[in-house]
Amino acid sequence: MYKITTIPGDGIGKEVMKPTIEILETLNTQFEFIHKPAGAECYKEYGTNLPEDTIETTKKTDSTLFGAVTSIPQQKSAIVTLRRILDLYVNQRPIKSYTNPDINFTIIRENSEGLYSHLEVENPEKQEVSAYRKITYKGCERISEYAFNYAKKTGHKKVTASHKADLLPLTDGIFKDEFYKVATKYPQIKAEDYYIDTTAMYLITRPQDFDVIVTTNLFGDILSDEAGGLLGSLGLIPSANIGSNNGLFEPVHGSAPDIAGLNKANPIAMILSASLMLEFLNLTDEALKLQNAVYKVIDENKVKTPDMGGHSNTQQMADAILHKIE
Ligand code: ATP
Ligand code: MG
Repeated sequence: MYKITTIPGDGIGKEVMKPTIEILETLNTQFEFIHKPAGAECYKEYGTNLPEDTIETTKKTDSTLFGAVTSIPQQKSAIVTLRRILDLYVNQRPIKSYTNPDINFTIIRENSEGLYSHLEVENPEKQEVSAYRKITYKGCERISEYAFNYAKKTGHKKVTASHKADLLPLTDGIFKDEFYKVATKYPQIKAEDYYIDTTAMYLITRPQDFDVIVTTNLFGDILSDEAGGLLGSLGLIPSANIGSNNGLFEPVHGSAPDIAGLNKANPIAMILSASLMLEFLNLTDEALKLQNAVYKVIDENKVKTPDMGGHSNTQQMADAILHKIE
């Protein structure tokens, strides 16, 4: 039995979670889902956007499916807190276009250090503020190890490190060195590196050259959104947050208040996030079945939600995918 925490959250988070659970139940009967609250509605009811009980449950279960939450100014971000508490140091975003076969790669972003280490300091005397970019040997090693291992497990051929080691010889120097050290353990996988600015350009001009990209926190944040832009709709992009003992899977989009309650949300990003969870749980066959079902529906080009230029609703899209599962 796999125990899964589900946090539907707010807005369309709830609307895309429901059909995703139905699909998972069809694929495999070995799931027990434990529903827990978080987000803005949760804050109204319980006075916190992330109850202790929700946190404890995510720690105990095999993984977590997260819909989306509306952020509230008086509370820290629920998802950022969960990433920190569960030490989810990997942020993974597969970028696969259904219309352009050249666009098919995965970005693996280090998610626990770098410029987002919350180390900002003020020096009022000098009228100066600064932000530290913390990089550790261990952090670089484990993210490189994850990237190569993921490439090996899923049949990818190449891992590209993206950095700025010419201008940041210490921090990105370590990142690059650790990357190539880990690479020696995976002789069957090609290792290469580019500067971050070059990578950003090549994502647009020659996306077919990329397979798996690994990078530090800030660079990964920017590349991920750039790559997301290649796909058009936010409703298609899944993501995984992974640590040594835990994984949290969520669509890249937010709670989309503008379309919430209208049954218009595209559930594909959430459904593909669930397929990443299946990969994480080593349910590889089920993951492939689910991904293939999604690709077939998109390929047929008949059932489309409004963000894809069609008129189908959330449930119709989910049903179409369900019918394609063999
Ligand atoms: P939040 O503050 O929760 O992030 P947001 O207003 O930033 O909400 P997003 O969810 O980030 O909204 O979405 C940005 C835009 O993309 C919105 O116009 C939204 O309607 C659209 N969008 C996002 N997700 C989907 C989806 N699954 N299906 C269709 N459209 C979507
Ligand atoms: Mg948003």
